[in-house]
Amino acid sequence: MAKEDFYKILGVKKDAKPEEIKKAYRRLARKYHPDVNPGDKAAEDRFKQMSEAFDVLSDPKKRKVYDRFGQYSDNLANAAEAGTAGSTYTRGTPGFDFSGFDFGAAANQGGGSGSFRDIFADLFSGGKAEREPPRPQPQRGTDIEMPLSLTFEEAITGLTTSLTVNRSEQCSRCHGAGDTGGSVVTCSTCKGTGQVQRTGGRLRFSQECPDCGGSGKRRPPCALCKGKGVLPKTENVKVRIPAGVDTGSRVRIPGKGEGGRLGAPPGDLYIITNVGRHKYFTRKGDNIYVTVPITVPEAALGAKIEVPTVNGKAQLRIPPGTQSGQKFRLRGRGAPSLRDPTVHGDQFVEAQVILPKVISEETKELLRKYAQMNEENPRIVMGLE
Ligand SMILES: [Zn+2]
Ligand SMILES: [Zn+2]
Repeated sequence: MAKEDFYKILGVKKDAKPEEIKKAYRRLARKYHPDVNPGDKAAEDRFKQMSEAFDVLSDPKKRKVYDRFGQYSDNLANAAEAGTAGSTYTRGTPGFDFSGFDFGAAANQGGGSGSFRDIFADLFSGGKAEREPPRPQPQRGTDIEMPLSLTFEEAITGLTTSLTVNRSEQCSRCHGAGDTGGSVVTCSTCKGTGQVQRTGGRLRFSQECPDCGGSGKRRPPCALCKGKGVLPKTENVKVRIPAGVDTGSRVRIPGKGEGGRLGAPPGDLYIITNVGRHKYFTRKGDNIYVTVPITVPEAALGAKIEVPTVNGKAQLRIPPGTQSGQKFRLRGRGAPSLRDPTVHGDQFVEAQVILPKVISEETKELLRKYAQMNEENPRIVMGLE
């Protein structure tokens, strides 16, 4: 098929306005559409020609290329664009009114050249996919993690404090879209290729361009956020750390993560706690462990002693004959549970018998007397002799 003049095919003048081209195409489409000329090969060819003509002439950019070169192809379009970098064209496809076409049941019958609907779908979506960068979608902001060091006591009691958080908020000018509309231009990040080169060690690989989503086109970036869709914000965030956190606990502060895009909510802030050591308490889960020294008379005769716990002092009964290393449990005197602060773990107290420093003659005499009265040999008792 010889290259026909697109203007002749549609029966319009070279300087026809878009409105006239549209009108001419509609009139001809009604007449030559395959669905109204079943089996008519000539009508089908004619319809294909006019669809091609309309596809080019209805698009200002394609029409410009056609006017310049007398034909249209994507390669010619790229060449033309490279020669006139920065030239812009209108966004989207000119509005087209489908009302007025009524082929009744015929419209649904697939002809040999594709149904009426298919042809129009190709015409519009095909052309659109080439020109339109993807519209950004609403996107929830990402979460932020921040470490926080606490003392042992603060972890037990909980803590309210204020933290300086470097986060972001949805851009007030573009609402996170990254652009404020305007004509589509070639993406400057990837120079229109849709791909950017990344180097990872000695490897080079290409990646979808983050600024245009791989389309090679984008709208001019928002002047306020430079296309990022969010603006950096340093914010003092009030943070309540609940009682009972331990090293590695994650405390969620809702809505204080990175800003969302296009009305989507921001992410959350997560505080990751790091709890310091204590002078004499150690902690495993909600249980607390402590070693408490007792005297020889307390161990031998028994005693009521006072021991420290993470929530004040407690009474502990040492039974007569307590050995060094023996452990006692104080129920419910451990750390509060993170899940339910009214529930506490236990405290385990290990008794450590401390021998007195014997200095006075009087004490030495007492011990000699004690030895005479208690002649049993503990090594024999243990089977060592
Ligand atoms: Zn913006
Ligand atoms: Zn790009």
